[in-house]
Amino acid sequence: MRTAVQLAGKVVAVTGGARGIGRAIATAFAAEGASVAIGDIDKKLCENTAAEIGNSTIGLPLDVTDHGSFEAFFDTIAATLGPVDVIVNNAGIMPITPFGDESLESIQRQLDINVRGVMWGSQLAIKRMKPRGGGAIVNIASAAGKAGFPGLATYCATKHAVVGLSESLSLEYETSGISVVCVMPGMVNTELISGLDTHWLLKTVEPEDIANAVVNAVRKGTFPVFVPKMFGGMYRTMSVLPRSTGKFLTRKLGIQDFMLNAHGSDARKAYEDRASHSEPSAE
Ligand code: NAD
Repeated sequence: MRTAVQLAGKVVAVTGGARGIGRAIATAFAAEGASVAIGDIDKKLCENTAAEIGNSTIGLPLDVTDHGSFEAFFDTIAATLGPVDVIVNNAGIMPITPFGDESLESIQRQLDINVRGVMWGSQLAIKRMKPRGGGAIVNIASAAGKAGFPGLATYCATKHAVVGLSESLSLEYETSGISVVCVMPGMVNTELISGLDTHWLLKTVEPEDIANAVVNAVRKGTFPVFVPKMFGGMYRTMSVLPRSTGKFLTRKLGIQDFMLNAHGSDARKAYEDRASHSEPSAE
């Protein structure tokens, strides 16, 4: 049986850690006694968040779509806190749009941040962790990595890619001491879901719920991780139902157009604007 990993003293890096789920994950690891670095394109907010988390947390500039920036992130952490033991590939964006109307920039940007960023973060970590004989890679995918939602075609495609990457890496590095954790959150109360209605079945959880699940999963090496847990049961049930029954149920339960209904709403504008830019000053 695998012994639980001690987190006190470990060096944890979290991408997209300035706000939302990343911030909560960083806070949870810091509370466990880990040395934490957060990276974000929103440099000022990232520094402020690190100061608020305290426990010597550092906030660094990071653009996960820029390989040089990602390398510098790992190198600065190594020079300041020590080599990274746990990388949490969390940075991600979720524009909502009918696919036929989606801009080329939106498609490219999601592929760059949600997929390439996670691949680069995972590979840079492996190159550094393998010679040291261990570490953990946490990839924040989504329930959208196991299902399809109208209005989220590109996002779902990117999250399916993260699930596939994580599944492969968990097998490829099984004997190298590097554990891989893939997290499938449902609806989480952050700016990313602004403008979306609540749905009794798609229970909205708090960023801290994801953070607790991540900390436990790194400790125990759990794979995969659904939050809330019932999403795992829903996914397994849907996978064995005939496709026509699954489609009937999602329509009947009002899940089918749940995301698409929020497209273009005023309540989503601030988030959509932020997610479409790399420069915080452009928000
Ligand atoms: P958020 O918008 O609150 O936070 C995301 C952070 O990532 C922001 O601080 C942003 O500045 C940063 N970021 C964006 N592009 C970046 C880049 N190129 N380089 C570095 N940082 C960048 O969103 P969140 O809800 O906290 O989402 C975090 C992760 O969780 C995402 O991968 C998202 O897809 C996933 N997720 C969220 C939900 C949800 O309901 N909120 C559900 C499932 C999965």
